[in-house]
Order: sequence, then structure tokens, then C-alpha cells
Amino acid sequence: MKSIISWTLRNIPRKYLQLVSHFAMKIYAIFLRGTRVSCPVCKSKFSKFVPYGRLEPRDNALCPNCLALERHRLMYMYLQQKTNFFQAKLKVLHVAPEYCFIDRFEKMKNLDYITADIESPLAKVKMDLHHIPFEDNTFDVVFCNHVLEHVEDDIQCMREMRRVLKPTGWAIMQSPQDWSLATTFEDKTITDPKERERLFKQDDHFRIYGRDYNKRLEQGGWKVTEDKFGVNMPPDQTMRFALPKDEIIYLCQK
Ligand SMILES: [Zn+2]
Repeated sequence: MKSIISWTLRNIPRKYLQLVSHFAMKIYAIFLRGTRVSCPVCKSKFSKFVPYGRLEPRDNALCPNCLALERHRLMYMYLQQKTNFFQAKLKVLHVAPEYCFIDRFEKMKNLDYITADIESPLAKVKMDLHHIPFEDNTFDVVFCNHVLEHVEDDIQCMREMRRVLKPTGWAIMQSPQDWSLATTFEDKTITDPKERERLFKQDDHFRIYGRDYNKRLEQGGWKVTEDKFGVNMPPDQTMRFALPKDEIIYLCQK
């Protein structure tokens, strides 16, 4: 099963996967009846989650009901427990919206919710993150997760998101980090997809962020608060919700 998942993720374009994976998972879920793990996003329970990952699939990762991964479950709990996201009246820009969040956030009456992406069929506004087609100070909240490693000029994109955020707003821009790297590794001269996969772990990645990701966000003009929300989670909850153990949430403000 793991090798099928790995092959599928590496060979079928993401925009098609997003459209069909939901149906495939509904069928797979039949084999995962149980209550050992629980998804905080959709509230479903299973014996375990589905393995997921391109090169080395991780066990117990993907919720077969809503397609939330470990990091999505962590972010959802963070939003519930540490922000005003579910209560305040907020205008939200969600870049490269994750499937597990779109319907839920769209239905929330307190949100004026706009999804945007350069190619995803799930997003309403087609846009290039280097030039966001909105006025300064438009949004209360910006989400942009696992995108900045894919863009040519990440600092420019960070500045653009900062520009469209209101002075009182906040943003979450999580990116994959390699904790063994002190500084971010980037080489724009490498354009061969195979070389990129070898060096950056994925053929459409421009860089691998290291432990200096917070500094990188600061270069983009952000004031960054590191929240070890996941790291400090009680172990029984980390297991129950299958959460990432080492992910730091970077809350960004103007
Ligand atoms: Zn779920």
C-alpha cells in the first residue's frame, strides 16, 4: 500500500490528485474501522490513519475522511485553542487552500473567506503570489502553508502577503523545515527536476528551509512569534490525534 501511495504522489499531478483522492479514500476508510485515532478537523475516528508521503510514506498520517494530515490537524487545534479564528469577524485570504479546510471555512458565518492559488482547481482566485491582486491592508488573516518552498522569490511573496494584511492582522505561513540544517539551502541555478528532487526533496521545490525559517520570515518583514504548541502537546493527545511532534507554529504579524 505504501509503495502505491508513494508512486501515485510522485507521478500524478497534484491538481488531478486533489480532485479524485477524496473518493478513493472513502473506500479505503472501510478497512480502518476503529476508534484508536481521532481527527480534530472532521471528528471521525479510525483504527489508524492512512500512510502518506512521496519518497518514504509515513504511517498513520492522512485522515481518509477529510484528507487532513498531521500538520493540518495541528493547525486546526492551534486555531481553536490559540486564536480568535472561530469567533471574530474576519476577512481571510487562504493561499493554496488545503482540501480539508475549504468547505469548513467557507461555511463559517464569521468569515469572509477567499481562496487563491496559481493553479489549484480548488481555489476561487487565480493569482501569482509574487503579485497579489488585492489592495494594501485588506485582510485580517492570511494562510499560506507549504507554498513558500515552491516559489521563485519567497521573500517577495512574504512581503506581498504582509502588504495585503491589515496592521492588526495575523498570518500563518508554515513550510517544511529540515531541522538538521542551520541555514536554509537554496540554489536557483538548479533547474533540472531530478536534481531538485535529490537536493530539495521534491522536483518543484526551490529550497529547503532550515532552523533559520523564523529569520527568513523576518527578512520578509514579519514580526514572528514562535509557538511550540505541538512540541508541548501532552503525549496522549499527540498520539490520539496523530500530530507532528517537532512542528513549531510561526505566528506572523506586521
Ligand atoms: Zn478528518
